[in-house]
Amino acid sequence: MRYFIGIDIGGTNIAVGIVDEHGTLVQKLSVPTRSAQGLDAMLEDMVSACNAVRELAGMKKEEISSVGIGVPGPVTREGVVIRAVNLGTEWSNLNLSAVMSSALGMPVYLANDADCAALGEVISGAGANCNSALMITLGTGIGGGFIVDGHIFSGCTGQGTEPGHFTFLYGGEPCSCGKRGCFERYTSATALIQQTKRAMEQHLDSKMWALVDNDIDAVNGKVPFDAAKMGDETAKAVLEQYVDYMGMGIASMTDTFRPELVIIGGGISNQGDYLMIPLNAAIRKYAFASDVIAPPPAVRATLGNDAGIIGAAMLEVSAEKASKQ
Ligand SMILES: [Zn+2]
Repeated sequence: MRYFIGIDIGGTNIAVGIVDEHGTLVQKLSVPTRSAQGLDAMLEDMVSACNAVRELAGMKKEEISSVGIGVPGPVTREGVVIRAVNLGTEWSNLNLSAVMSSALGMPVYLANDADCAALGEVISGAGANCNSALMITLGTGIGGGFIVDGHIFSGCTGQGTEPGHFTFLYGGEPCSCGKRGCFERYTSATALIQQTKRAMEQHLDSKMWALVDNDIDAVNGKVPFDAAKMGDETAKAVLEQYVDYMGMGIASMTDTFRPELVIIGGGISNQGDYLMIPLNAAIRKYAFASDVIAPPPAVRATLGNDAGIIGAAMLEVSAEKASKQ
């Protein structure tokens, strides 16, 4: 059995785990992300965490095949972090794979964290036994990635895909990336909150006002769902529009790539069937020739935060599969 270490660098914590060749997480731990202390402190933390998790599992260094790291930002095929805005400027053009490889004395693979989560879900989560999938994570923004033939579709430059930033509406809402009309401006949790607030301002009789004690700043992504379940018409209309946006965007992507499956992650996906049933209907509504070609089913992610660790750990396996294509 081969074993791998996966590191998922998040804004709050760095999660590290040992994963076997089947994608099963056998040991994990996490340490706080000390980005304010600078790059060297974080590198030291990652090296110590790798050694600590290996010792917890009772394994020798020689038993680990490689280390994979999921980075919150774009990376190159050569293992260089292009930038990671939330971690600091020292992370720009950082050859992280070389630095970590010499510190750990083993091969290090690198990928974007959203691509790692997609890979993890396809190896041992919602997409297990599936070869190709589109993953969409509904968070502050939209994270996501495409898995093709069991490996990350990283494109010719190695940076993977940005499903959150394809132009959904020409000249639409301004996006943090500098463009307008990006998909995430309509379908992220942040977008849902904005759509909810706008509807509340137009409908002072909505039950959503009572749910937030008349404080519009207290609106979160759960409020429209809670109110809709109580029969609130304003909340129902917000969600109908939101799910319609999502279905149209996802159908555009699946028409282009034809994955077997669409995997939906992030906090909003916790709404379960209340989201997934209308979402599947909306994808069918917009997918090309869906009366004769069944669009891929959309299902909930199952691994939660572990997807990023598992996917990072399996980067060596993903690279092996990609090289055989
Ligand atoms: Zn954008």
